[in-house]
Amino acid sequence: MALIVQKYGGTSVADGARIGHVADKVCAARRAGHDLLVVVSAMAGETDRLLSLGKNISQRPNPRELDVLLATGEQVSIALLAIALEKRGLSACSFTGGQVCIRTDDAHTKARILAIDEDKLRDTLARGCIPVVAGFQGVDAAGNITTLGRGGSDTTAVALAAALKADECQIYTDVDGVYTTDPRMVPEARRLARITFEEMLELASLGSKVLQIRAVEFAGKYNVPLRVLSTFKEGAGTLITYEDTAVEAAIVSGIAFNRDEAEITLIGVPDVPGTAYRILGPVAAANIVVDMIVQNVARGGRLDFSFTIHRNDYPQTIDIMQANLRHIGAEQVVGNDRVVKISIVGVGMRSHAGVASSVFQALSEEDISIRMVATSEIKISVVVEEKHLELGVRTLHAAFRLHEPPQQDFLQRSAGASRRRGGITG
Ligand code: ASP
Ligand code: MG
Repeated sequence: MALIVQKYGGTSVADGARIGHVADKVCAARRAGHDLLVVVSAMAGETDRLLSLGKNISQRPNPRELDVLLATGEQVSIALLAIALEKRGLSACSFTGGQVCIRTDDAHTKARILAIDEDKLRDTLARGCIPVVAGFQGVDAAGNITTLGRGGSDTTAVALAAALKADECQIYTDVDGVYTTDPRMVPEARRLARITFEEMLELASLGSKVLQIRAVEFAGKYNVPLRVLSTFKEGAGTLITYEDTAVEAAIVSGIAFNRDEAEITLIGVPDVPGTAYRILGPVAAANIVVDMIVQNVARGGRLDFSFTIHRNDYPQTIDIMQANLRHIGAEQVVGNDRVVKISIVGVGMRSHAGVASSVFQALSEEDISIRMVATSEIKISVVVEEKHLELGVRTLHAAFRLHEPPQQDFLQRSAGASRRRGGITG
């Protein structure tokens, strides 16, 4: 008999019928002999509705009061689910975050969980009763209600699973798992049976918004096996755990992309110490996040310096560069806000050479030119023109055979040539 934490998101508890369906699923798991703790989000759209109620009264509501307001959404769904469970003959008890002492710091609207007093939950479980806990909320040391940031119910579930040393934390949502890439773009995209925490973090921060990033970090830190599954479709979902041999077989696990990129290049920058700081210092001072940075080798004492930023920050960054052009000593600033980033992610890259050259080969065969490249141990990102996004993602998905289950090794089978040339990730 296992202890399982199940978390149901907003679409899963959107109305009475769906809450009934969730209750049926909880019953089934209970009948299979498991101990269960359930975490729920607010009903779909409810948090947004509450937020706009507050914002209609004041543009900048007091964050403490905002948390009191937002936390009501989850309080409604825990009660409704507990009622639905009792109606099915199960013993259930709803709890707000405060009632089970989910202690957070006092950073209202983005609080972090500091401690959980699991005694009450253990007692409840020992009585054969199913605790139904409100996601997304806690209390600070002074007893004020706090919330954990949008999507925070995932983190509540993982934190409870960690505190209770649950066997698995299951996140039920409206997709049936983590895919090799967005199936709306690549119909052949395949659901991954397993993925590592590291890969999931890369994919999540690169724009695959299946899970709150903080929840994945938390699960990795406390080694909580995390499973993403659909509320509406039966299936095993995707299990996120630490690296194991089954996972190691895949060199590339997934492809993420980001549409909102822009690049800026300073041409003819003097090659003297402090140049990068003179360029990026004012950007950082304006609170603009810089992603990739590329600096070329100087020729004739001058070099070109490029970086990428979020597309929304493009006009302001161009203005900053223009204003600082003389101070930097650059000849010219040019930019392009019609670029995108495509990233391939996989822990197997650590132990395989030639992955980057396979990327370059596949894209060049489609005449897609690469404007910038960045690599980490388990990721290769390229910036390409926006018009090449779909073709680029499809090409790489096919080149690394992501539509096939991962026993087969594309690099070993078909890319001998690129391996002999040697890849930069080697
Ligand atoms: N209800 C909150 C939100 O909409 C928390 C969550 O759903 O995870 O962000
Ligand atoms: Mg969510």
